[in-house]
Amino acid sequence: MLAAIDLDDTVFDFQRAWERTAFQVLGHARCVRALTPSRRERYRLSASERAAVWAGFDWRYRDPLPGAVSAVRRLMQGGWTVFAVTAVPGHLRAEREAALAAAGIAMPVHCVGWRADKGSHLLHADLFVDDDPHHCERALELGVADVFWVGRTYPVQHECRARRVDTLEEAVSWLFSDDARLTAHAPAAASAGC
Ligand SMILES: [Mg+2]
Repeated sequence: MLAAIDLDDTVFDFQRAWERTAFQVLGHARCVRALTPSRRERYRLSASERAAVWAGFDWRYRDPLPGAVSAVRRLMQGGWTVFAVTAVPGHLRAEREAALAAAGIAMPVHCVGWRADKGSHLLHADLFVDDDPHHCERALELGVADVFWVGRTYPVQHECRARRVDTLEEAVSWLFSDDARLTAHAPAAASAGC
């Protein structure tokens, strides 16, 4: 069984790392509008301020979200082959692998490029977990059996047919639960969580 897991805001607390960088670079990182996908609007930044934060961002960051590391380990110990699929360019692969290794969950990292389609990396996956509903919808289109949307921090209202969870830990717990066994062969529409 093959599991594809997103990294930012699924395994690692990207939001926290970005705000920490903004504070280091700009001296402030005050979220003024939570429900917007635009970081310029959310933090009321100029284009040059936003660019400065990105320029100072260190992709080796590793702030694991609560329960995420143990959830990945639980998958691995349960016989799953786990890899990460992340929407950053390939030249960042080494940083991302280093962060995972430092967190104690070494796994291969597939880098698809900025805001790119993750579909070609999901063709043989049985499980996919991501905080971006668009990637989740793509996985469902491709027939991935179990797709979980970590929707807690997504900045706008969004309809998503994937099963909605608050954390990766919740997704993995569900996967190993009696509910998962009971609905394993149910039609997709019946098992959709949102
Ligand atoms: Mg993400």
